[in-house]
Amino acid sequence: MSHAVSRLRAERLARSTRPFIARGSRAPRCSDCRVIESYCLCAWKPTVPARSAVCLLMYDTEPLKPTNTGWLIADVVKDTEAFGWSRIDVDEKLPALLNDPQWQPYIVFPGEFVAPERVVTEVRVADGKRPLFILLDATWPEARKMFRKSPYLNHLPVLSLQPEQMSRYRLRRSKRDDHFCTAEVAALCLELAEDQQAAAVLDAYLDVFSAHYLGAKFQLPIDPDDAAHTHLKAFL
Ligand SMILES: [Zn+2]
Repeated sequence: MSHAVSRLRAERLARSTRPFIARGSRAPRCSDCRVIESYCLCAWKPTVPARSAVCLLMYDTEPLKPTNTGWLIADVVKDTEAFGWSRIDVDEKLPALLNDPQWQPYIVFPGEFVAPERVVTEVRVADGKRPLFILLDATWPEARKMFRKSPYLNHLPVLSLQPEQMSRYRLRRSKRDDHFCTAEVAALCLELAEDQQAAAVLDAYLDVFSAHYLGAKFQLPIDPDDAAHTHLKAFL
């Protein structure tokens, strides 16, 4: 099955002059979930309704990285679009998406780096509209550059995740570090949009992906009855 991130990955591979060598094992990877075949994740891909949509702006080789979690968002949130980021060479489908009246777009970025009048902390969409979360899928320095150098995003409200929400999330998921991957940011946005079920499924799917990915890396057994796998069973 192909989704926006797998299509972007295929396009990016086609443009590569040199093969992209993922770090780690050279064992064959499943072309659908990118995990080493004996740890394939495909049987665990959930189906869950969501009112929200996601637009991923992905930095250069991000779609090629086996650890990229934007891919997981596209698996879970049916209305996910993905674009390779460029300052000037912008795919015309991106402004068309941002101007489509069915969506209320938000660019998700820390408010402390943005003019205060652009910053919002809640998701409130008018009747007949649905929230569209634009996520910068990149390292932090890359994301800052993307934010600064994308004039086509300048008119959009900036959704800033709040420290209280992030610390509740950290506690609930027993997160030890301050880094949030793109799928975690998406789950926090889904929560704010009252897509609680999709948020919880995305969290569980991220945990299942991590278990399979690390299982493959360190040749650990997978427990299909752990909490995350069990959560997903209702959505397969
Ligand atoms: Zn697979």
